[in-house]
Amino acid sequence: VMASMAHLQKEKLRLQEELLELQEKLAARENNELSLSLQLQGQVETLKEKLLEQAQEISRLRSELGGTDAEKHRDLLAAENERLRQEMKACEGELRELRRQQQAPCRDCPHLQENAGLQEQLSQLQREAEETRAKLVELDLEVQQKTNRLAEVELRLKDSLAERAEEEERLSRRLRDSQETIASLKSQPQQIKYIIKTVEVESTKAKQALCETQSRNQYLQEQVGMQKQVLKEMEQQLQSSQKTEAQLRAQIMMYEAELERAHGQMLEEMQAMEEEKNRAIEEAFSRAQVEMKAVHENLAGVRTNLLTLQPALRTLTHDYNSLKRQVRDFPLLLQETLRSARAEISQAIEEVHSTNRELLRKYRRELQLRKKCHNELVRLKGNIRVFGRVRPITKEDGEGPEAANAVTFDADDDAVLHLLHKGKQVSFELDKVFPPQASQEEVFQEVQALVTSCIDGYNVCIFAYGQTGAGKTYTMEGTAANPGINQRALQLLFSEVRGKAADWDYAITVSAAEIYNEALRDLLGKEPQEKLEIKLCPDGSGQLYVPGLTEFRVQSVEDINKVFEFGHVKRVTECTNLNEHSSRSHALLIVTVRGLDRSTGLRTTGKLNLVDLAGSERVGRSGAEGSRLREAQHINKSLSALGDVIYALRSRQGHVPFRNSKLTYLLQDSLSGDSKTLMMVQVSPAEKNTSETLCSLKFAERVRSVELGPVSRKAELGSWPSQEHLEGDSPGSAAPPGRGHASPSPGQLSSRSASIRRKLHTSG
Ligand code: ADP
Ligand code: MG
Repeated sequence: VMASMAHLQKEKLRLQEELLELQEKLAARENNELSLSLQLQGQVETLKEKLLEQAQEISRLRSELGGTDAEKHRDLLAAENERLRQEMKACEGELRELRRQQQAPCRDCPHLQENAGLQEQLSQLQREAEETRAKLVELDLEVQQKTNRLAEVELRLKDSLAERAEEEERLSRRLRDSQETIASLKSQPQQIKYIIKTVEVESTKAKQALCETQSRNQYLQEQVGMQKQVLKEMEQQLQSSQKTEAQLRAQIMMYEAELERAHGQMLEEMQAMEEEKNRAIEEAFSRAQVEMKAVHENLAGVRTNLLTLQPALRTLTHDYNSLKRQVRDFPLLLQETLRSARAEISQAIEEVHSTNRELLRKYRRELQLRKKCHNELVRLKGNIRVFGRVRPITKEDGEGPEAANAVTFDADDDAVLHLLHKGKQVSFELDKVFPPQASQEEVFQEVQALVTSCIDGYNVCIFAYGQTGAGKTYTMEGTAANPGINQRALQLLFSEVRGKAADWDYAITVSAAEIYNEALRDLLGKEPQEKLEIKLCPDGSGQLYVPGLTEFRVQSVEDINKVFEFGHVKRVTECTNLNEHSSRSHALLIVTVRGLDRSTGLRTTGKLNLVDLAGSERVGRSGAEGSRLREAQHINKSLSALGDVIYALRSRQGHVPFRNSKLTYLLQDSLSGDSKTLMMVQVSPAEKNTSETLCSLKFAERVRSVELGPVSRKAELGSWPSQEHLEGDSPGSAAPPGRGHASPSPGQLSSRSASIRRKLHTSG
């Protein structure tokens, strides 16, 4: 029993170990399943990533559609798509496998085998327990047999005890009988003697028998003692045997209980294990199901993505194909287009050519027309125009009544000016009057048409006339900040020439000269003191030219500024008092514009003469002598000559006395023909200058009025009135000594000019 118990214990330990092993295996399996699910999840993740990449790639491709490597991208995409599809298929296979495994769990898995082995072991254990139980039964039987034997022995012991009791009974009865006999014998003494003898004889015999009986009794008693000892031993033996039996029984019971417990425990453990296993399997199954679901969802997502990708791919492919077709057809199309474009272009060029020819023809005609129109306009306006410009009152005019303003204007007529002279208001009408506030810009605007006509080949003269300090130099030269006509005219010429540069080549040159005391000097030459002569061109054209007069070619405003600066510096260094000198000399800026029409070969030459005249004030009155007188005479002569020439021109006389002064002689070709002349009469508005102002305005009005009177056109007036007669009916009209020079009588001329003015008024 002990051995079997030990064996059982060992078996139990082994079983426990096996159980542990099994648990470990179960855990390993779980781990396996977990890792498998993780792997699957990872695969799904990568698939998702790839899908995202694909989507990005597609969007990028879509944005790049029309790029040059669209084909490559498409191929790449298709390959990627194919690979993805295969991966999908593999995934699906794996999934199917997994599902199958889940549906038929543990068909041939090691766990089942383990389970079977365990079951077998259990059954073996049960068998062994059965065997042990059989052995126990055997042992029980043996005990029974032994008990039976013991009962037999007891029975036998009882029998022998009964026999002994019987023997004792019998012996005690004979003893009693013997004692009774003795007692009876004693009571009968003779007899007794006899008897005694007999008894004695008998007694010896009885004594012997008694001895024998006594020994026998002794023996029996010994035997009984022995038997009692044996019985006692037997009883003791029985008792110990019974104890042992009880012990054994208890032990058996204990073992059985232990076995039962072990069995129960084992069953429980088995159950727990089974439950654990089932739970694990269930968990794994549910987890796998969840994962499966997720995978399914992912798969569905992937599938839908694929489904959406496919049409995109299809459209992409379609687009690509159409693009490819277009690209293939492009060279042909391009050639075709180029051919047609070329044809169109050549046709258009042809058309443009013919249009150009037509336009050129029209343009020339227009040019002629314009020239004609311009001439007509200028003729209508008068080839010689007279403007008046009143300067503002300056600080130099001083203060008080002498510096009071004596000039007013007509609000409705910008050609009329009123002068308050000695309490009387005298009105003058010119072509235009600029009030003191008129800017250089405004003045130039009225002049610029004349300047541009220079480009068309006209000769132009612009004179600034007036007493010293009336603003001649300001109008012609201006200041650096606010330039006058000279610089503005050249700027305008430059810009006009630039505008026509497409068809014309122009060369602009400038000369600067000065006429002082009837001597012509070059302001830009190397030897300014040298007196220049005016000569007739030897080509017989009748043109005049000044040999040795320096000409500078100018192309920009910077060039002109340099030229002006140069001339100015020359003049400053040559003169001790420039202001005085300049007021006694005529300053000329001669701009020549030579043009060549490249298309026609037509050449034009226009001259623009900008003249800052000497002061017109009557110096002679103050009783000047010597050089001052000479200066005054020269100025008087030249201004008179200018007036004569202009008068002759405006009245269209046959003879124009150009040769009466250097100035008119020099400007002959710029004053005659269809040349244009502008006389800017400068006027000071100060009260103290009214006499000179009156003279200047009279000069202006006379110059202007000559042509307009119908009679004056044909008038045969001998000469222009001298400076003195310009004073009109001023108190000093009697020939002053200073400027007296050969001229018709003052009264005559005065009345003539008055008649001219009347005629002007009557003719409207
Ligand atoms: P002129 O040359 O006739 O002797 P200036 O041109 O030298 O006269 O002018 C005399 C002064 O009057 C100069 O200081 C000049 O700046 C000024 N002046 C002349 N005209 C104007 C004007 N329109 N506006 C402002 N100042 C002027
Ligand atoms: Mg001046």
